[in-house]
Amino acid sequence: MSDAGRKWGPIGVDEWVAGASALELRLQGQRVLLVGPCPGCGHQIDRDITAAAGVGLVKGSAPERVSVACNCGRHHAGRAADARPAGCGAAGAIRLEAR
Ligand SMILES: [Zn+2]
Ligand SMILES: [Zn+2]
Repeated sequence: MSDAGRKWGPIGVDEWVAGASALELRLQGQRVLLVGPCPGCGHQIDRDITAAAGVGLVKGSAPERVSVACNCGRHHAGRAADARPAGCGAAGAIRLEAR
């Protein structure tokens, strides 16, 4: 299954994936966070991908891609007020590389 051509939030999935893949992966204790400006809305996102990536990320055996959605926490027009995660709705399966 491919997300190619699909669109969630303000930008296309391909754009989101390209932008989000460049964000910083930060190790915080036992957790792995994806941190940086959302490629869709520009707000800061701080996504815990520990469950998806696991410690495999550290050991170089992480899954190739994990599904990530913007969680900037801001309200965006067109998004339900109780949408989860709270953000612009941009999402996609980003490529992880051990760095
Ligand atoms: Zn936002
Ligand atoms: Zn966003």
